[in-house]
Amino acid sequence: MARAEVPGRLRTSWRVGTLTSVHDETATARTLVLDVPDWPGHVAGQHVDVRLTAPDGYRAQRSYSLAAPANGDRLELTVQHVDDGEVSDYLTKTYAVGDPVEVRGPVGGWFVWRPTQPEPVLLVAGGSGVVPLMAMIRARAAAGSRAPFRLIYSARSKSELIFGDELRTRARDDRGLDVSYVFTREPERKRITLADVNSHGWPADLQPMCFVCGPTGFVETVADMLVALGHDPRRVKTERFG
Ligand SMILES: Cc1cc2nc3c(=O)[nH]c(=O)nc-3n(C[C@H](O)[C@H](O)[C@H](O)COP(=O)(O)OP(=O)(O)OC[C@H]3O[C@@H](n4cnc5c(N)ncnc54)[C@H](O)[C@@H]3O)c2cc1C
Repeated sequence: MARAEVPGRLRTSWRVGTLTSVHDETATARTLVLDVPDWPGHVAGQHVDVRLTAPDGYRAQRSYSLAAPANGDRLELTVQHVDDGEVSDYLTKTYAVGDPVEVRGPVGGWFVWRPTQPEPVLLVAGGSGVVPLMAMIRARAAAGSRAPFRLIYSARSKSELIFGDELRTRARDDRGLDVSYVFTREPERKRITLADVNSHGWPADLQPMCFVCGPTGFVETVADMLVALGHDPRRVKTERFG
């Protein structure tokens, strides 16, 4: 389960991207579409480092998952506004079409899914942890993969579901994708349970690949549940958003 670093972890130089469009996913989460010249491509699950520099030279750097499969020089990031958050506040409120931003990546070689992987996949998302998992769902569809996918998505409420409409449509039209939800505030007030993971996930004997992403506490809880349900810890891959 430990987030292993693979040899040759991709570390590239900073590139200057430009914001080409935005769309709001919820009242507090925004997708940013960037044009990054000479982007080398990426795999679903990887992320980028984003660096902002203020006029006085002050710099702040954060990681953001790539929300969509590689598509030339076009990158999509989906950023959840965090109260008092330095970088997410800027990216969701101030950063405007035409503005530059420094981007480095792609980063990460462990928390990735490739369309050549045929085994069942369980995705478990907490809040904005759905972003890299959505990249996997989109990559699966783009490649015409038949790997069966299940997503368990924990969010505060229906109105805070990132990619809510797209997930509904994809789950309706694609029999190989099941999506289930746990709401922590409305209409229920509930945390994800072992029973949720057991009934909406895959049996361990099918040896699915499991990807869990979200806040640290959520990720640790779900990873422990998966191991308790008999999943091989080496097939439980985690990404913590902090
Ligand atoms: C590999 C990786 C991929 C990530 N991908 C995404 C992504 O796709 N979309 C996305 O929105 N975020 C993502 N994050 C989180 C992101 O990097 C920032 O941590 C987040 O945007 C907050 O940064 P900030 O500067 O706004 O907040 P800060 O100024 O750093 O923090 C402000 C306050 O918010 C708290 N805080 C920090 N981060 C979070 C958080 N994630 N949730 C709740 N509270 C927090 C801090 O403890 C602090 O109290 C990812 C993180 C990692 C490590």
